[in-house]
Amino acid sequence: MHIQTAAVQTLRDHEHGAVVPPVHLASTYELDPRTDDGLYAYQRGGNPTRAQLERVLAELDGAAHGFAFATGMAATGAVFSTLEVGSEVILPASVYGGTFRFVDKIFPTRGLTGRYVDDLGALTDEDFTEATRMVFVETPANPTLRVTDLRRIVELAHRHGAIVAVDNTFMTPVLQRPLELGADVVVQSATKYLAGHSDLLAGTVTTDDPQLAEAYALSQKAEGGVLAPLDSFRLIQAIKTLPLRLERQQDNAAQIAAFLREREDVTVVHTPGSFSEEEARLHAAQAEGPGAVLSFELAPDLDRVAFLQALRYPAYAVSLGGVESLICRPATMTHEAMTPQARATAGISDELLRLSVGIEHIDDLLADLEQALAAAAR
Ligand SMILES: *Cc1c(COP(=O)(O)O)cnc(C)c1O
Repeated sequence: MHIQTAAVQTLRDHEHGAVVPPVHLASTYELDPRTDDGLYAYQRGGNPTRAQLERVLAELDGAAHGFAFATGMAATGAVFSTLEVGSEVILPASVYGGTFRFVDKIFPTRGLTGRYVDDLGALTDEDFTEATRMVFVETPANPTLRVTDLRRIVELAHRHGAIVAVDNTFMTPVLQRPLELGADVVVQSATKYLAGHSDLLAGTVTTDDPQLAEAYALSQKAEGGVLAPLDSFRLIQAIKTLPLRLERQQDNAAQIAAFLREREDVTVVHTPGSFSEEEARLHAAQAEGPGAVLSFELAPDLDRVAFLQALRYPAYAVSLGGVESLICRPATMTHEAMTPQARATAGISDELLRLSVGIEHIDDLLADLEQALAAAAR
């Protein structure tokens, strides 16, 4: 089954013939007095609507197990919940800001250590210690779109007894399926592309590993950061158009990148693979497209604030993946927790702008960028 078909056809209510799955809002379920058991008992531990969503999530990633959480950070927290005291996690310095906050503030209270590396692509055997239990990867990286060789990281990590967790938010299973490349667990902020309309917070975890799956189910039950039935239903519905939305967004983004690269008043344009031929080759070998996020810098003689004020369509806001275009300034809006030095090392200048491209008509988006660039000329 192709992913476009799986997104739409995985769930059919065969009992009633409904083409859209039902929503089960019950907080509690009747048990059999002979066994004190039942298919479901209490909503936090599991319920039919969340279970349906989790089936779709597993199907899309080609995974044995899927889990739905209240937010992407709850999902990331569940992934970190398997780490024992004394464990160390290797992460890229440019990791998502919320993950950086988790490592910065929560890890010490749990006896965990996060070790940041500037370039995951340069990871070697020497970077692993006895305590390394996990490598946490984002590829392409945010907002530089640098690409990491997932197969290589998997090979390295597994040789040292560490698991590989991939935050696949930017790619989604439509464009990249890290479990097929050997990763142990995939986490996504479904708030972004999966939900796709900037109106829902959710997080997902998928894995083939039965032991990890047990731990994530325990996190749902014990820590309680689960997705509610109505939001599970909304996410099921949103996922149906994910491949279609992403296709248009990616197409628009490619045309915008080409437009910006032609401009003399735009100095750099980052897209996955743009850093080097090696990264272009890597991305092509592990993903099916560049996605729809790009970043760029205006020439020094342009007025950034005037440019942003003149833009009519991309809203100046954090987040990404929605049908509406958004633009933000990572140095102050998404990566402000990094030290200025760490940002500089990661290639995140104060002037870098990140654009999440929506499904608007490309002619309107290009005309808007063109008039805003003109307005920014001092
Ligand atoms: C937004 C985001 C998260 C966190 O997701 P929330 O749903 O906001 O909790 C994690 N990783 C990446 C890459 C993100 O963009």
